[in-house]
Amino acid sequence: MQKLTKIVATLGPATETAEVMEALINAGMNVARFNTKHGTPEWHLERIHRVKAVAKKLGKSVGVLLDLQGPEIRINTKDGVAFELKVGEQAKFVSTPPGEREMNIPANVIEALQIGDTVSTDDGACEYKVVKKDETSATVESPTDVTVKHRKTMNTPGISIDMPSLIENDLIQLDNMTDADIDFVGLSFVRDTKDIAILREELKKRGLHTDVVAKIENQSSIDNLDEIIEASDAVMVARGDLAVEVPFERLAYYQKMIIEKCRTAGKPVITATQMLKSMTFEPRPTRAEVSDVANAIYDGTDAVMLSEETTIGKYPVQCIETQAKIAAFNEPLTENSLWDFDDLGDTSAITYAASSLLDFSQEEIDLIVCFSASGATARQLSRFRPNVKIKAVTCDSSAYNKLAVVYGVEPVLVDESVFKYSSEADIIDNLKASKIVEVGQKVLITIGLSEKIAGRKTDSLMLVDIK
Ligand code: PGA
Ligand code: MN
Repeated sequence: MQKLTKIVATLGPATETAEVMEALINAGMNVARFNTKHGTPEWHLERIHRVKAVAKKLGKSVGVLLDLQGPEIRINTKDGVAFELKVGEQAKFVSTPPGEREMNIPANVIEALQIGDTVSTDDGACEYKVVKKDETSATVESPTDVTVKHRKTMNTPGISIDMPSLIENDLIQLDNMTDADIDFVGLSFVRDTKDIAILREELKKRGLHTDVVAKIENQSSIDNLDEIIEASDAVMVARGDLAVEVPFERLAYYQKMIIEKCRTAGKPVITATQMLKSMTFEPRPTRAEVSDVANAIYDGTDAVMLSEETTIGKYPVQCIETQAKIAAFNEPLTENSLWDFDDLGDTSAITYAASSLLDFSQEEIDLIVCFSASGATARQLSRFRPNVKIKAVTCDSSAYNKLAVVYGVEPVLVDESVFKYSSEADIIDNLKASKIVEVGQKVLITIGLSEKIAGRKTDSLMLVDIK
């Protein structure tokens, strides 16, 4: 099925065999996400190698996103046992080992809490109001009947807590990775560009050139959004936590705002969480889910994501098929012209010209071929959301996998000889020989002609009938 929107699927116990991975890729998965909240580094690495091997066998570009846990707070209950709280009943957050009706959390979180604050656990399912406070504990009251479960994450909306941006597990998870394993690292709960700088430093120490995906999931990241987008390589609208960290009625507005800012800047953006949640257990999506996936595409997202739907769900392949179907139908109906965009120099000028050319002769053009050694030109072209596929030709295997998340881009890994040309005839012959174009197609080519090296700057547009 021809779709331009990218699909990021989180892999887990339900999707860890090579057979299932192959089915996911064939159904339209473009990026495999590994959530380091669960699983050891060895568990992840083994499956990363597996999915890369399957992708290679199928001749497809599949990116790997290693999503780090970041500074999240988890509660520990006594002996790991859940407990019930009825309306108005009290419980305690403590920094000491938890007793009955107590939840252990770090001491600095307790310090930051004040009487009157509202906090929650379990993705907002349990809410608590702080009613009493001393040095080592905070007493809370529950406004509803809840079951408090061990190891669930805690959200403290609007309360700023001094926490390191990466936890020990994040650093350990990065330790054994190489550039050949991971293409993207997800930075959870990013607050400002300092957090991104810290991650980049850790990547550098390990010789990694991985792209950084900033996960927008709290108020600080909304407040510092422009700088964060500029400092990152890609962005995630991490709705799971965002909807708890900010008043939920703002979620759709923020989603649209983040997507628009990312497109303007030419940074790929992933819309995440609960897109097909009911399909974790059911073979069909709800109406609201069908509409949610479609609307993210109308908003202009590069990619849609799946989490528990594909880690533990009963219907992982059907989830990908469902998103792919929704994408393929709705994409041609979207009107996502971009009039206002960050001017990034000549490449912006030439890619804008290419997209205008398509707007005026869309019916006739079958394909865009974008010579893009680093992937930058393909990324810039994509932000105009052309309604035809962009084949991004590169001889850099890292660029090849990083483009997996970019809307409308089909990365093609070629031998350096494809970048050796001295005439228009050479270019077309090379493309035909590598089966990137076929006779009968009308193709728009963006390419660099003026310099004689691979990685040359894009300076030319060619509209060619392949004969
Ligand atoms: P998570 O991130 O699944 O790692 O929490 C995504 C989100 O919060 O939406
Ligand atoms: Mn999250």
